[in-house]
Amino acid sequence: MKKGLLIIISGPSGVGKGTVRNCFINDESLRLSYSTSMTTRAPRVGEVDGKDYLFTTKEQFEQAVKNGEMLEWAEFVGNYYGTPLSVVEDLRNQGRNVLLEIEVQGATQVREKCPDALSIFIVPPTMEELEKRIRGRRSEPEEIVQQRLAKAANEMKLAKDYKYVICNEDPQLAADMISLVIQRAMREEA
Ligand code: 5GP
Repeated sequence: MKKGLLIIISGPSGVGKGTVRNCFINDESLRLSYSTSMTTRAPRVGEVDGKDYLFTTKEQFEQAVKNGEMLEWAEFVGNYYGTPLSVVEDLRNQGRNVLLEIEVQGATQVREKCPDALSIFIVPPTMEELEKRIRGRRSEPEEIVQQRLAKAANEMKLAKDYKYVICNEDPQLAADMISLVIQRAMREEA
């Protein structure tokens, strides 16, 4: 069986990666499996352990890194986030196209390790709109919001390193464009 694609979706925090993903992840023609990340951040209201993230402690996360269990990992605004390698490999070996939704440092690691990965960067229509979206979550203290905004400005400079840059003005439209890009990559692999 042909190994599935590795797909990276990145972009600044708050750009709507999760909302866009939800618009196409269940399209079975794309044969997608979402890679659930491990994080040390506390769950937000409504987030489910094992579905949104594998919530873990700092000690467990550091041990997993030491054991070489992570495909990539990064520290983001005071917490660790990372992709467990074995799940990604198992799914790809079953022919599934695995979607990683990760921030830019992790995406750089994956692009270096797997140059064939399909990399997509999502940008907001404007930085003002991004700020509105980050504040709209109303879940974090002002200090963290400021850190996310400062980071976003730097993250945007890395868009040029990705194969595709897609604007999330309308989530369904962005999702449709990503679906086309994945379909094209699947045809090229066939
Ligand atoms: P949030 O706290 O908003 O859920 O996530 C913060 C940032 O970490 C987002 O940009 C999100 O895409 C990213 N992220 C989520 N999971 C991972 C991961 O496994 N690895 C890396 N490098 N970033 C991640």
